Amino acid sequence: MPERADLERRTTKLLRRLIRFDTVNPPGNEAPAQEWLRGLLEAAGFDCELLAAVEGRPNLLARIRAASDGPRLCLLGHVDTVLADPSEWSVDPWSGELRDRCVWGRGAVDMKSQVAAEAAAAIALAEEGWRPAAGELLLTFTADEETGASIGADWLCREHPERVRCDLVVNEGAGERIDYAGRRVYGVCVAEKGVFRFTLTTEGRAGHASLPRVGDNALAKMAPLLTALRDRHPPYQLTPEPEHLLGALGLDSADPGAALREIESQEPALATMVEPMLGVSLTPTIMRAGDKINVIPSQAQLKVDCRVPPGLGKDEVRDAVRAVLGEDGYRLEFDEGVTGNRSPVETPLMESIRRFVDREDPGATVAPVVMPGFSDSNWWRRAFPECVVYGFFPQRAMNAYETMPLVHGADERIPVEDLGLAASFYSELIVETLG
Ligand SMILES: [Zn+2]
Repeated sequence: MPERADLERRTTKLLRRLIRFDTVNPPGNEAPAQEWLRGLLEAAGFDCELLAAVEGRPNLLARIRAASDGPRLCLLGHVDTVLADPSEWSVDPWSGELRDRCVWGRGAVDMKSQVAAEAAAAIALAEEGWRPAAGELLLTFTADEETGASIGADWLCREHPERVRCDLVVNEGAGERIDYAGRRVYGVCVAEKGVFRFTLTTEGRAGHASLPRVGDNALAKMAPLLTALRDRHPPYQLTPEPEHLLGALGLDSADPGAALREIESQEPALATMVEPMLGVSLTPTIMRAGDKINVIPSQAQLKVDCRVPPGLGKDEVRDAVRAVLGEDGYRLEFDEGVTGNRSPVETPLMESIRRFVDREDPGATVAPVVMPGFSDSNWWRRAFPECVVYGFFPQRAMNAYETMPLVHGADERIPVEDLGLAASFYSELIVETLG
């Protein structure tokens, strides 16, 4: 088994170089980063292929197979990032600078750090001569996660299912230490919410703007809807994952609203994380009305970003909207709908994670969480229903409250200590699963 210090050094070096490849998506331009990773993995003995739906934007698959059958373990990651505005940062976002024992740059958390830790663990093992006793280790580094994965994970799972079919997948989504009321809990992302964005329309009657009462202003009819969306929330629905999580935090899950108020009073940042797990969320983001300054608008439209617990769909969204806005005064049309999905909570993979956390941080516990957003995990669960897909990147030096604002934010950075911790987890998991 590779030493922690060696893994920390390898992962830090890999991450600093990866950050220096600008993979801001759009346009992505992932090819140089992917070709560089392929070179490292091939040199260590991996069979590699670059599969691209679009020129210049390949996905990388790197595998080592045993002669005998066994589980296929996939370590997953995406190499594209969101944009960064250098004027908001204390360092160049594409420098990979090492400062205060942290690696800084866009992707340091989401998620070049995990790509680096997975690659470093696999390369270190292969260089020591490790080969799986049974089954296969597959590293999958995708393009295009940040803008919908239509040429990344979604495409791979649709067009090349035989190449990426797996029994176990470890992806992004959770793993930072959650501190609450003297407890330390490490989240494992076992589910992701679905996305059911919709448009609310209000109708009125046009007229000259110099005579306010001559028409019927559709824009003004948005005011009570916006106020209700700010002040109210749909009823909480307890699904198995938040039920486990509330238990791990020492809270009574029978009344999720009361549990949430208790969290809010102790640790508001945690309430921000937990509330979206408890039901449908409704976030208005774009509003349009009127084309001319002197015409009372006869129609206004409000776009709402709506995230839905795994397995639920349009009916539950309509119920949630009625609970917040009432029955009348608007029209609702769906713009897109992707159902969220989940993996079981109790599996051998969860046991492996629990054993790792027990060794690393005795007294801490592990609990399932639901990702409020969306990641590549969804595509694997959808394409391969038997596959167990979790998000886990353990972080102890920097906790969840410190990490959360850095995702897609300014001064994104990660402690090198956590890079070593994560790479140790991946190398131990590989050996434990594949022999
Ligand atoms: Zn990500």
